[in-house]
Amino acid sequence: MSFQANREAAEQYVKPKFERKIGRYGGRRSGPLVIFIGGIHGNEPAGVFALRNVMKALNEKNPRFEGEVIALAGNTRALNKGLRYLDTDLNRAWLPEQVRNLKLKAGKTVEVSEETEQLELLAEIETAIGANRQEVYILDLHTTSSDGAPFSIISDTLTNRHIAQELGVPIILGIEESIDGTILNYINDLGYAALGFEAGQHDALTSVENHEAIIWLSLAFIGCLSTNDIPNMASLRKRLIKASNGLPRFLEVRYRHAIAESDEFAMDPGFRNFHPVKKNQAIAKDRTGEVKTNEDGFLFMPLYQKLGDDGFFLVREVKPFWMKVSEVARRMKFDRALPLLPGVSRLKGAKDSLVIDTRIAHWFVLEICHLLGFRKHYQTTGRLIVSRRKQQEL
Ligand SMILES: [Zn+2]
Repeated sequence: MSFQANREAAEQYVKPKFERKIGRYGGRRSGPLVIFIGGIHGNEPAGVFALRNVMKALNEKNPRFEGEVIALAGNTRALNKGLRYLDTDLNRAWLPEQVRNLKLKAGKTVEVSEETEQLELLAEIETAIGANRQEVYILDLHTTSSDGAPFSIISDTLTNRHIAQELGVPIILGIEESIDGTILNYINDLGYAALGFEAGQHDALTSVENHEAIIWLSLAFIGCLSTNDIPNMASLRKRLIKASNGLPRFLEVRYRHAIAESDEFAMDPGFRNFHPVKKNQAIAKDRTGEVKTNEDGFLFMPLYQKLGDDGFFLVREVKPFWMKVSEVARRMKFDRALPLLPGVSRLKGAKDSLVIDTRIAHWFVLEICHLLGFRKHYQTTGRLIVSRRKQQEL
């Protein structure tokens, strides 16, 4: 079902259309701080609509709430124009060095629309977190240009994993090996829990409904709300499980097809998110001809819109058995033994990073690093640096 027409009609009388602060609730009792961000991509308003609905319901019903929830809109200027972004992608500018440089521009005239957005968003987040917050969760709500089941994207820390697992949607690991500078990576590196959710196609009404389910359920699992205070708790979870019916619980990113405008990349029609594909299957075209897959797996986030530099990803299942093994191994701090493997050493001065000599180390060393939460950080000839996200001890 499309709500494009209704959306345009509705927006006529919702003025101003998109503002940074969507709402907040709680704050009277101690507890976690949960920050939701909707529409960091301006053509993805479903998260904002869902947040408005949930904030309205909370403020009307006034249930007991541990901690506080704050709902923010991401790229307000792009949201108001219905575009992914105006000048640059707001979800690719969060490398620590970029953020440091950006902060120097605070209070000055900024030419790039997304720099203004980022400064405003950053100020809201930093004010909310303040000096004394211990338990912070940031949840970033997105939608995709293709059709398909809802899913979560996380950096592989145990805290992130546990929340995402409770929601019953597929969990995608390892995207940080392919995409730099997302807000989730930035927040994770500050030591807080950060999870991304994709609810379905940009303009589908079900995407708003899926996001609402995700918001309510995560507030319950984080411990802010009692499940009794959530309208239709059982049906919300059922809805998410049904939407991702048949898909593996855990998948990891194996390949990213990066594109530039000059590639003239175009997906072939008819592919959904998580469409199963075979090796060497033609799935798109570009200036040089057919684009084929390089291994079996599931197609992930195929691009059916103009703006964006990820043509598609390939993901494959990680068996729950291995996820369990990795949880046990992490609890037993097996990572301490990693430097005993041939070709692996600690990176000096960086507790959460390792150097892998790719001329010595076996192929499975990287797999073991993955299990223990270390992901590729950067690579030079013969040398691979892997890092893991700081773990929030909860
Ligand atoms: Zn997005």
